Amino acid sequence: MNTIQAPILGLHHMTAIVADAQRSVDFYVGALGLRSVKLTVNFDDPTAYHLYFGDAIGSPGTALTFFPYADGRQARVGSGQVAVTRLAVPTDSLEFWRERLVASGVRVADAPAGTDPSLAFQDPDGLRYALVEVEGRTTNPWPASPVPAERAILGMHSVEIWSRRPEATGGVLESIFGYQKVQVDGDRTRYAVRDGCGGSVDVVQSDAVGNGGHGGVHHIAFRTPDAATQLALHDKVHEQGLHVSPVMERNYFRSVYFREPGGVLFEIATDGPGFLIDEPFESLGVDLKLPEQYESQRAWIESRLPKLRFPGVTA
Ligand code: ZN
Repeated sequence: MNTIQAPILGLHHMTAIVADAQRSVDFYVGALGLRSVKLTVNFDDPTAYHLYFGDAIGSPGTALTFFPYADGRQARVGSGQVAVTRLAVPTDSLEFWRERLVASGVRVADAPAGTDPSLAFQDPDGLRYALVEVEGRTTNPWPASPVPAERAILGMHSVEIWSRRPEATGGVLESIFGYQKVQVDGDRTRYAVRDGCGGSVDVVQSDAVGNGGHGGVHHIAFRTPDAATQLALHDKVHEQGLHVSPVMERNYFRSVYFREPGGVLFEIATDGPGFLIDEPFESLGVDLKLPEQYESQRAWIESRLPKLRFPGVTA
């Protein structure tokens, strides 16, 4: 048995379902100023896009990713789901973001008095976010972003999970991922990564009945440094009696998936090789990239997908 040192480094990416690919591109690139770092298809269903937005290179911990499906119902947040994704922004930038979001037609709300300052908003599909100021986080902003580098979104700060079995959800975070319980406040328990490099998880007791769909988080992925650590984690999940997928090749990282006891789909994703593996930095995220197994069907796949325009990128 390997001794695992900090097997999980924090959050890797978040993946949600949306209704309209172009609307999401316009929002995440045009309004939030993130870069499209990969345009590809859902590897499990090549008739749908998989959109990736992040910092200049989609560094682990910055990527927000989306499966657009026109058909489907609106999601409702309930237990077994990621309810809120919090994004880190530099200190003294919440006012900038308030003005920018309002100017983009987005409704914003302040955190209740007495809690840490944050700015809550929803994306066009109703996906819930909050911006939180953090100090001293290094950044890799996209030079062509419509948002100035000193205000740029720095990546994920934390997620809030609603769970019917909060102790069991927290148990996975502690005993498998190496998170530590750092705060208990009523029904809410905060878990943080041991070395504090970002990506805490709030687990909230909830029996609310929800459903997936447009504006719902499909899964949340956690960072692991390399394939060997990932394999050790895979075995540990299995040993705890949870059903875990084999290691899946996602080209830009490798993934294993399992559903935690509270019902949220967790992914463990490697930091590498990253989004620069199949296209250059300068033109990242604009041309459709297909995994090898679908390349022979490119013409058919392209005919099924709507053409997308990327704000700030001239054709
Ligand atoms: Zn994923």
